[in-house]
Amino acid sequence: MSKREAFIEKLREIAVSTPTEIIEVPDKVEGFGTVVYESQTCSACKKCMDVCEVDALDIQLTLNLPEYLAATIPEDGFRSKNREALVFLLQHLKQNGEVQAISVPTGLPGYGSISWVQDKCIACNKCVEICPENCLTLEKQYDLQAVIGEVVSPPVVEVKEWEPFIICFVCWECSHAAADLAGLMHLHYPANIRTIRVPCSGAVEPIHIMTAMQNGADGVLVTGCLFDECHYGGDDELAGNFMQYDFVQFWKQVFEGIGLGGRLHIDFASAAMGIKFTEIVTEFVQQIEELGPSPLRGKLEVEE
Ligand code: SF4
Ligand code: SF4
Repeated sequence: MSKREAFIEKLREIAVSTPTEIIEVPDKVEGFGTVVYESQTCSACKKCMDVCEVDALDIQLTLNLPEYLAATIPEDGFRSKNREALVFLLQHLKQNGEVQAISVPTGLPGYGSISWVQDKCIACNKCVEICPENCLTLEKQYDLQAVIGEVVSPPVVEVKEWEPFIICFVCWECSHAAADLAGLMHLHYPANIRTIRVPCSGAVEPIHIMTAMQNGADGVLVTGCLFDECHYGGDDELAGNFMQYDFVQFWKQVFEGIGLGGRLHIDFASAAMGIKFTEIVTEFVQQIEELGPSPLRGKLEVEE
C-alpha cells in the first residue's frame, strides 16, 4: 500500500461526518491540490499521463462537446489553429437541445479527454509543467468529500466519568524543556495529557495525528519552538515549526470536515517558558472539555 493509500484509508477510518466544504490548502502545504483540466485545447498527447508517477491520469476516448461549445476563444486564438477551427465550427453548428460527449473513433489521434483521480494525486505539478497546450492547472484546493465519500455518523456512546485524554507531541528541543521546567516550577496543569517527544514539531506527520485519535485521544496538541527559533531551520520560512504551523492549519480544516473540529491545536514555547507551556495545555484541555468525548469513540465501538 502506498503512503497516499494508507493516508486515505486512515482518514476514512477516523471520519465521523461527511465533509461538505472544499478545503483551501495553505501555500506551504504540498501534496494536496486539485488538477483542473480544460479539454478544449487538449491534443490528447498523453504527455501528462507519462509523467504522472502515481497513475492519477487516464485518457477517455470521448470529446466533451458541452465544454467545446462553452469555450471562449481568446483574442489571439488557440495555439492549435485546427482545434480553434473545430471549436468555432461546432459553436456555429450547434443545434438547440442538450449536447453530450461523443466517442472518438479508435485510431484517430489528437482527440480525447483526460480524467483525473484525486485519491491518487500527490499534487506534484509535473503534469501541469509538461502539458504543451496549457490545459492543466493545479489549484490549492482539496475536495475531501471526493476522497473519502459519504460517511455514516456513528452513534453517540455514553461515557461515564469522562476525563479528556490528550496526546501532546513535544519537540525535544524547546517545548519538552518548557514542560520539564513547568514541572520543576511545580506549576500545575491538567494531568490529562500524555507527551510524546519528537525531534522537531515539523516531524509530526498526519498519520501520527490520526493514529492518536484512533487510539482514543479526544484531542491532539503539537508544541514546538518559538517562531524564528526552530533548531532545524531558525528563521527560514521552511523551518520545521513554520511548516508544521501551516500544516496544522490545513489539518484543522480536515478535522472540521470529518466531524472532529476543535480537536487539534499547535502552539509554541521556548525552553524558558514553563508558565506559557502550562497555559497552552490548560487552555487546550478546557477546549476539549467543552467539546466532550471524541465522537470517534462511537465509531470505534461499532467496528469492534
Ligand atoms: S499533479 Fe502530479 S500526481 Fe497529480 S495528476 Fe499531475 S502528475 Fe499526477
Ligand atoms: S492535458 Fe496536455 S499533456 Fe495531457 S494529453 Fe492533453 S495536451 Fe497532452
